Amino acid sequence: MTDRTDEYTGANDRADAAAIQEHYDVIVIGSGLAGMTSANLLARSGHKVLLLERHYKLGGLATWFHRNGQTHIFDVSLHGFPVGMIKSCRRYWNAEVANKIVQLGCIKFDNPQFTLSTTFDRADFTRLLIEKFHLPPETVSQFFDTARNMTHYGDEKMTTRELFDRFFPNRPDVVRLIMEPITYANGSTLEDPALTYGIVFSNFMSKGCYTFQGGTDLFVKMLREEMLKNGVTILTNAPVEKILVENGRAAGVKIAETGLDIPVPELGGRRANVCALAGKTIHAKAVVSNANLLGTIFQLTGQEHFCADFIDSAKAVRLNNSSTQVYMALAEGETLDEEVCGDLLFTSVAPEFKTDLLLSKNITSRTFSFYYPKTRPQIAEARYYAVASANARYEDWADLPAEEYQAAKKDLIETTLDTFEKYQPGIRRKLAFVEAATPRTFRAYTDHWAGASFGTKYEGLAVSRALPNALPGLFHTGSVGIIMSGWLGAVNYGVIVANDVDAFLL
Ligand SMILES: Cc1cc2nc3c(=O)[nH]c(=O)nc-3n(C[C@H](O)[C@H](O)[C@H](O)COP(=O)(O)OP(=O)(O)OC[C@H]3O[C@@H](n4cnc5c(N)ncnc54)[C@H](O)[C@@H]3O)c2cc1C
Repeated sequence: MTDRTDEYTGANDRADAAAIQEHYDVIVIGSGLAGMTSANLLARSGHKVLLLERHYKLGGLATWFHRNGQTHIFDVSLHGFPVGMIKSCRRYWNAEVANKIVQLGCIKFDNPQFTLSTTFDRADFTRLLIEKFHLPPETVSQFFDTARNMTHYGDEKMTTRELFDRFFPNRPDVVRLIMEPITYANGSTLEDPALTYGIVFSNFMSKGCYTFQGGTDLFVKMLREEMLKNGVTILTNAPVEKILVENGRAAGVKIAETGLDIPVPELGGRRANVCALAGKTIHAKAVVSNANLLGTIFQLTGQEHFCADFIDSAKAVRLNNSSTQVYMALAEGETLDEEVCGDLLFTSVAPEFKTDLLLSKNITSRTFSFYYPKTRPQIAEARYYAVASANARYEDWADLPAEEYQAAKKDLIETTLDTFEKYQPGIRRKLAFVEAATPRTFRAYTDHWAGASFGTKYEGLAVSRALPNALPGLFHTGSVGIIMSGWLGAVNYGVIVANDVDAFLL
């Protein structure tokens, strides 16, 4: 097991801080997957790039954490992404990263309407829809073709509910099978434009669901090494307080005086070092913000720098939902039954799929991700882990007084364990460690407004794209508009914005 102390103390960053210059071609604010991808590509194209991250480690929501020293390791958002991630990583990162992406072979569903296992691709879903759900083959085939032909520039008026009504009227069981995993994957609902569903569903259906073998820590380590190789200057513990605006253009950033005030469990609760550049301003020809879209406009920049029309459209952008999670580590020597659990298990006791039920604090639907030693081969002892996720509303958690908050977290853990017991009887006795995260946790660690797990709703995409017109030199990349979210969406949006910045600089 490697000593990861430097990762948490910021020791590496002090060296970087000494090398920081006063002017860059591009400053990237935030090291989520979109921010890192933009930084990497821009540096690869020869631009001088500075990447600033407020947290003590890189990755944003693509993150992991240790508990009990380094005994346990948990992945926060490594549960599954579409096959397109292989191509994107090979093209925009490197072959070594791409080669570690492997398929999750067994996705399970268990709810009052059906119980099934699937490889989660078009061929297997076609089989299930025809044989188990008794749909006509032509309907199934037409539905897949319609979903696949939806593009970013398609009809925005039809909702996902209308799409389903067209193909599967009065079939709430079918709607649940094809919608529940996508709501989990990007927070989209039946009322969102159908293309937000069609694009993501088709991405998964093309070849199934994939993961990074070795875990998020290895993934981010490999991205960091590639960025350094391409010349990106990286500084963690460096929260940007303001985007500088000079002569109507984005001109750089001011780093905050104080760092992230979050204790680092890996350091026994000590605070991470504050960046050596606290309070400094650094200039750049272009600024790319990977921070929350609304935070970028209203907090980091300030609405006084934009015209009224742009601000009106930004104010109309709705944030996406947040999440809760329960992280569970099995004691040494204890195992999970892979036959029963699979890789991902969508479990629910709700009679039907309903967005409101999915977001309710009274959780009825949970998605369990199971991590076997083969998924995380670098862990010395062959340990087994499970992470149970549920969609959640920030407002249900935001203002709970301390005692109620702790009680709600405890309840979240207990009800999750009750569900887990159903699939792995006696699991409570087998666990060595359990902890919960709430929408407040996601807010604290990423500064995403309302702890949004997937950025904004659909209308956020147009505002994000319009940002450089509203304020030349300022770009936004990162989870927006449902389509550009998740690991693949974030990486791909990072590529799109890197190309825009490259054109702007040239
Ligand atoms: C519980 C959960 C489960 C998920 N599961 C999956 C999944 O299974 N599959 C999947 O594909 N996706 C999943 N996602 C979504 C996926 O993780 C995100 O869509 C993606 O990682 C977001 O990347 P991003 O580029 O938008 O940046 P983010 O990850 O949002 O990172 C933004 C970064 O900016 C930094 N930052 C913010 N403000 C500042 C500032 N002022 N100064 C400096 N830095 C700043 C933040 O600290 C952060 O590091 C999940 C998300 C959650 C929360």
